[in-house]
Amino acid sequence: MRNPPAKSRRNFRLPHPQPLDALTYARFTGIPTFLRLPHITQPAELEVALIGVPFDGGTTYRPGPRFGPRHVRLQSAIIRPWNPVLQVNPFAKLRVADFGDLPVNPLSIEDTFLRIEKGMTPLLEAGVRCVCVGGDHSISLPILRAVAKKRGPVSLIQFDAHSDLWDEYFGSKYSHGTPFRRAFEEGLLVDSEVLQVGLRGQVYGEDDFDFARAHKVRMVTAEEFHKKGLPTVQRHLRAFRGKPVYVTLDIDAVDPAYAPGTGTPQVGGLTSIQILELVRALRGLDIIGCDLVEVSPPYDTGEITSLLAANLLYELLCVL
Ligand code: MN
Ligand code: MN
Repeated sequence: MRNPPAKSRRNFRLPHPQPLDALTYARFTGIPTFLRLPHITQPAELEVALIGVPFDGGTTYRPGPRFGPRHVRLQSAIIRPWNPVLQVNPFAKLRVADFGDLPVNPLSIEDTFLRIEKGMTPLLEAGVRCVCVGGDHSISLPILRAVAKKRGPVSLIQFDAHSDLWDEYFGSKYSHGTPFRRAFEEGLLVDSEVLQVGLRGQVYGEDDFDFARAHKVRMVTAEEFHKKGLPTVQRHLRAFRGKPVYVTLDIDAVDPAYAPGTGTPQVGGLTSIQILELVRALRGLDIIGCDLVEVSPPYDTGEITSLLAANLLYELLCVL
């Protein structure tokens, strides 16, 4: 049997939602949803919701992630259900479906934040874990607000070329460069339980790291990762065992040679296989939600960034 049903944590009577079978319905047919899953909007039917958040009003350089969810849906048509590396079929283990997009306001970052928080609340109330596809990285702040309201302050694992701990941009406190500084200030994150992997590139000055140091942020720069490899990250991950962890994956953690479709590209980043292995290394953690952000299809080449993002979305599901 290709997709054997499995017992879920909650006692659902309905069979698990399944991706369209590519051996019956060719991959290029049908209405695109994440991973060819059904579109389900009833929180009571789900354990995990895949949610599009098509907002890029927080970008500071190249715009375009508002088109991210649509392109990740398209490229995810190629994903098959069984993961031979992790030995898991996530659709057999979890009730997961495409919840659709949250209703963002392209003209207002504040209103969009309210809409994201409000849109997630019924899901979180029902105990559904949310996997959001952005959108730019500003969306992680309202997501963390919603998650922390339910769960309290969380640990954070962030894959990113940038720390996103800046204070403001052109006088605005909200942008894709500031979400985690705001999250610390709002008490949504736990000191010494934030890990950032893939950091690199120039900053404005040495004091750009003062805020991170004050909050004991763990950092594995791209340079350190290239020198020491996966074990250096795994050592940090041990500190996250048994704790509720939120995972945020900015696609610009990956080198622009592999993921050119993004807003603030930085050279010297991770390869496709390195980011896949980093996500797989999260297996065993208590992941209470995640997001995948900064895919900007207008700057992509041959849809390779959206394709990588679709694969990372699948791998995230596998470690849930
Ligand atoms: Mn970011
Ligand atoms: Mn970034």
